[in-house]
Amino acid sequence: MDDISLCAAMIRLDESKNLIVTACNAPFFKLTGGADADRQTFPIPFDALVTESAPPGFREKLLACFASSRPQEPEQTHDVREGGHWWRLTLKPIRHGNDGGSVREILVTGFDMAAKINSTPEPEANASRYRALVDLAYDAIVTMDDQHNITLFNRAAENLFGYSAAEVLGRPIVTLLPEKFRAHHPRKVQQFSDSYQPGLRQATAPRMDQSNSVYGQHRDGSVIPVEIAVSRIDLNGGTEFMAVVRDITDRARLMDLLKKQAATDALTGLPNRREFLEFVEKVLGTGDALSVFILDIDFFKEINDQHGHDAGDEVLRVLAKVGASMTDGAGLFARWGGEEFVAALPGAGADLAHVIAEELRQRYERQDFEHQWPHKPIPFTVSIGVVTREAGEVDVDALMKRADRALYRAKRSGRNRVEVG
Ligand code: GH3
Ligand code: MG
Ligand code: MG
Repeated sequence: MDDISLCAAMIRLDESKNLIVTACNAPFFKLTGGADADRQTFPIPFDALVTESAPPGFREKLLACFASSRPQEPEQTHDVREGGHWWRLTLKPIRHGNDGGSVREILVTGFDMAAKINSTPEPEANASRYRALVDLAYDAIVTMDDQHNITLFNRAAENLFGYSAAEVLGRPIVTLLPEKFRAHHPRKVQQFSDSYQPGLRQATAPRMDQSNSVYGQHRDGSVIPVEIAVSRIDLNGGTEFMAVVRDITDRARLMDLLKKQAATDALTGLPNRREFLEFVEKVLGTGDALSVFILDIDFFKEINDQHGHDAGDEVLRVLAKVGASMTDGAGLFARWGGEEFVAALPGAGADLAHVIAEELRQRYERQDFEHQWPHKPIPFTVSIGVVTREAGEVDVDALMKRADRALYRAKRSGRNRVEVG
């Protein structure tokens, strides 16, 4: 029986002042807690029908209504709250004649308001609420069936991927992935599905891929960095997967920028010392030939003193630009710190490295580069220490120490020169 259906009964008072139910509907038995309706035949004594679970004070209210001497009162409504119940009882006195005479019978109607309030909303209401929630969601929500075809595509998904729901429903989920990830996708889904434990409610939704490198593909072919949380939904007839997808283009851009900043010297835009060491270590990890050099500006302190610190900065920038153009391609020119710079020349043996370093030294000396000094040219020279990796040498610190010693020799021998270590 429906908890919220209205119950109704006609009740009269017999000569001995006993309440007698002369007729009632099935829900009334539920209200009073009475025995099975099929086994009752009217009239039924009210006291035989009511049990503990009936609204408290029900009997007294009926008696009071019979005793009422207020003929004009068409009906009384009583709200009785007890436990989880909120009974609303309406007693309508039926009188005979027009004289406002005594109450002969009472029409009782009643229902449990609490049951009505707490009752599960209708499926349609749930469905609309669910639909609104899905469509209002900030994140894209996409579900797919066990054949990996799209079964739901919310508005945020339409905006993110550039397809309308109508266009993609029923189409393979890989439509939304860049070409190169498509082949692996079914295996990934399988792995996820096998490891998924629906019984465990986690604080955060499980991520299908913990890395930041998950990508979707827009209708126009552009690749979108995304973060994705996936759940497996076990339905009666099969399994579906729901993905909540968030566009992290801005975050990815910021991450790239921070990564670049962490590897770059702010003044010159060159790779910094850490980036250089990483590069050299990588080459040392292979069996390839490698030469490196350290370059230090001669009497740079005097340049600062004579022309000012800003002009000194400009010299560093000019030097950086020329040095970087020299190693364009395989090598790396980096700022080691202060007025010291380093170059890594993979594939270069000692002779070639010496030639390159010497050429660079002469270019600086002759100011043999296309650069407009902002004010006036500032002459400067450099000293360079070059070393070449020995067979089997893998220690980057030892290699750089050797280069530093060669540089020291260049300084000691008069500056503006290249020394090989
Ligand atoms: P040496 O020929 O022996 O190398 O002499 P030097 O004057 O170049 O060497 P020193 O180490 O005595 O001085 C280096 C100067 O470089 C000191 C410091 O103020 C300057 N310097 C370091 N970093 C910067 C910078 O970023 N900008 C400017 N303008 N000057 C810097
Ligand atoms: Mg120095
Ligand atoms: Mg110097």
